Amino acid sequence: MSTETGFFQEILTTLENANRYLELPPAIYERLMTPRRSLIVSVPVQMDNGRVKYFTGYRVQYDTARGPAKGGIRYHPKVTLDEITALAALMTWKCAVVNLPYGGAKGGVACDPTVMSRDEKKRLTRRYTYEIAFLIGPESDIPAPDVYTDEQTMAWMMDTYYMIKGYSIPGVVTGKPVCIGGSLGRDSATSDGLVITILEALKTLNMSIDGLTVTVIGFGKVGYHAARILHGLGAKVIGVADSKGAVYNAKGLDIKALHKHKEASGALSGFKEAGDSSLDELLAIPVDLLVPAALEGQINMTNVKRIKTKILAEGANNPVTTEADKVLLDNGVFLLPGVLANAGGVVVSYFEWVQDLQRYFWDETEIKNRLTSIMTKAYHEVLRISVDKKVDMRTAATILGVQRVAEAIRVRGLYP
Ligand code: GLU
Repeated sequence: MSTETGFFQEILTTLENANRYLELPPAIYERLMTPRRSLIVSVPVQMDNGRVKYFTGYRVQYDTARGPAKGGIRYHPKVTLDEITALAALMTWKCAVVNLPYGGAKGGVACDPTVMSRDEKKRLTRRYTYEIAFLIGPESDIPAPDVYTDEQTMAWMMDTYYMIKGYSIPGVVTGKPVCIGGSLGRDSATSDGLVITILEALKTLNMSIDGLTVTVIGFGKVGYHAARILHGLGAKVIGVADSKGAVYNAKGLDIKALHKHKEASGALSGFKEAGDSSLDELLAIPVDLLVPAALEGQINMTNVKRIKTKILAEGANNPVTTEADKVLLDNGVFLLPGVLANAGGVVVSYFEWVQDLQRYFWDETEIKNRLTSIMTKAYHEVLRISVDKKVDMRTAATILGVQRVAEAIRVRGLYP
């Protein structure tokens, strides 16, 4: 996925910004600039027409000093090693920001799942899992869903791993269906966590959720649930965009009805209670809160100047390019960075893994309460750094995450 300077380079720039305050020893700083392991695999898949097609798959374990590598698997035509490495680094900081005993990883396959049949996706998933099987495991590296993968993908991954090992090991992946060891609350966890941090930010800024105007970019799992929960809490979601189009209604959209419409018609456009719009038009409409919840680099130098929002909460990983970030800061936008704001997904993944290891499952209230307490604590830790060091929330969150990873590397020492 292209960004202004290359995605991984952007991560290194953010790391460099954080290190101005951390002043890490060079040996540790250099360690943090490089992934620990990067695996590239060729994934042959028999397509429905009988022909064999070769896809390229990746799994990058960025750092494992704090625990097993953790992070999602994405299926997208623009998946590259650069993108997966950047996302694996972000997972490393993210897990540390919310203080989970995990390192960070990411995986993906360059493919277009929107034009593949269910059987083709199943064969792709099983073969990709087989190719990375020697790296993954509940003690070493635990995949989860990401862009265009879901609980069915995780069920196939878990089953393939089971075929290799000979017995069922539910803790090898998270984000599975509940009937095979998934956790209650995982489906909407990223959005639940996002809304928890938004509510804390509103308190900080002395704003109310009631009538808060919101635009959401991306109407996949994260964008839909975030819009639905915010709407349910009294916010007015006036605009929603996805990869194909956008809709707008100044009076607020009925999110569940919009979701039903998209499920039925395949697109947002044509929703009878709203006017058709475009991403560019939507971004120019002043709102209190903007939630980018699609892909990285979506807010960039071509569109950032149009944006008029008070708060920007990153449902996606790095939706704002480094250059565009500066413009938002200059314009006084309060930014909730993805490594904090979208960490709810991996937090409930962690709960799922703990439940799998113990073979003892919690009820939804317990999950929600524990998620709220972790997200709220992390928000205030990041805010404190931001206030104390007079830095923006992205730099503050990176300082917190990187500092924890660096401390684990330091205390473990170098082998041999
Ligand atoms: N893909 C999600 C993320 O980017 C979740 C990762 C996980 O649960 O391991 O945070």
